[in-house]
Amino acid sequence: MRYISTRGQAPVLSFGEAMLTGLARDGGLYVPETIPVMTPADIAALAGLPYEEVALRVMKPFVGDTFTEAELKGAIDRAYAGFGHVARAPLVQLAPGHFLLELFHGPTLAFKDFAMQVIGQLFQIALAKEGRRITIVGATSGDTGSAAIEAFRGLDNVDVVILFPHGRVSDVQRRQMTTPSESNVHALALDGTFDDCQNRLKDMFNDFAFRDEVGLAGVNSINWARVLAQVVYYFTAAVSLGAPARKVSFTVPTGNFGDIFAGFIAREMGLPIDKLVVATNQNDILHRCLTTGEYRMDGVKPSISPSMDIQISSNFERALFWAYGRDGAAVAQLMDELKAQGGFTVSQGALQALREIYTSGRVSEQETSETITQELTRSGELLCPHSAVGVRVGHAHATAPVPMVTLATAHPAKFPDAVQAATGIRPALPPRMADLFDRPERVTRVPNDLSALEALIRERRRH
Ligand SMILES: *Cc1c(COP(=O)(O)O)cnc(C)c1O
Repeated sequence: MRYISTRGQAPVLSFGEAMLTGLARDGGLYVPETIPVMTPADIAALAGLPYEEVALRVMKPFVGDTFTEAELKGAIDRAYAGFGHVARAPLVQLAPGHFLLELFHGPTLAFKDFAMQVIGQLFQIALAKEGRRITIVGATSGDTGSAAIEAFRGLDNVDVVILFPHGRVSDVQRRQMTTPSESNVHALALDGTFDDCQNRLKDMFNDFAFRDEVGLAGVNSINWARVLAQVVYYFTAAVSLGAPARKVSFTVPTGNFGDIFAGFIAREMGLPIDKLVVATNQNDILHRCLTTGEYRMDGVKPSISPSMDIQISSNFERALFWAYGRDGAAVAQLMDELKAQGGFTVSQGALQALREIYTSGRVSEQETSETITQELTRSGELLCPHSAVGVRVGHAHATAPVPMVTLATAHPAKFPDAVQAATGIRPALPPRMADLFDRPERVTRVPNDLSALEALIRERRRH
């Protein structure tokens, strides 16, 4: 399997190279040259299999010869062994025809564990083969950083450095980053905002001498291997609701479009998905774009579902690539316009192509809280604010008899303040991490200064 860039100008890479590279050299995102198809018989055969076995069958055709089947199987098995639910991604019923896919049973209680745990294992195998060491540096507003630390902690060939804005992440999120004791984990609290963290990260990647010296690598949501690992749970959910004989729809709380794009890949592979519904909070650039064809930045408004507070949605570029008939030059032009003018207009043909696949809905802050309250009464489910955004839109877009599955992207205990404000109930952490607030923290406060950061990383990483 070969991987090409959405902007058409970067070298064609193998799965392993695309995984270790992340962003393509022309600024684009890597996508598979062709999408492997599973027949209805292949899909029917997934019924009743363990999650890990489904993951192996779904991911293998994309991986090519970068990893042997035994290596891929080992990576998948180790990735999910620490999850708190044997089904990994269990489905619960909210209402007739409406189901919730719980993606929060991983070590950091958000769906990002599904992908990050697998790529931690795959990075380790690939690097050990080449005798290489790398330094993973990430900037986070909360969920991505903790998921990356959990995935890479203790791995031999990797140091993981996470920059988060000092005083601006939740206590649970911070403790998930600062309590791991392994010497390859480095949590840095930067004096600044999340944007400052992202800007210093970009500066480090643009400092080529530093980049080569420490073997800088990124694992943000544009990494193709992350998208791929997320395709799996669309299959397990749809098959348990009757696919391939029956169609299923999905609603996805969306920020950077990685999770819902995985649903599109599942659909291209032959899974009978009826609707893919994009659910946004008040940061609704995607909903506006799918409604009007205008994709325009208008600043981030902080919300109670902070992991969806985005100004631009990075993986949407992959959706545009398909909507424009895989024309890299057309995508490159849109991205130039975005940079120069803060937005672009999607062509009529491409907008129609997008609307054949995606619909969308937007949820206000008040509606998010209301949904948390209502759902507790209706079904007894306590939702995190992100999942509540999804459930509200999912209810509105469900069309019987096609079952609707809404993705629950985080555990309510990860966002206890918003849940308590809506319901009066402070959700408890699952027993396996109940001692999170007793563990010692280890964190380094850093100034918002590139050379100080680089000096610290040079000194701290293992050689
Ligand atoms: C990252 C995240 C999202 C958004 O997912 P994307 O793949 O960026 O669209 C939604 N909910 C939670 C809890 C998240 O951590």
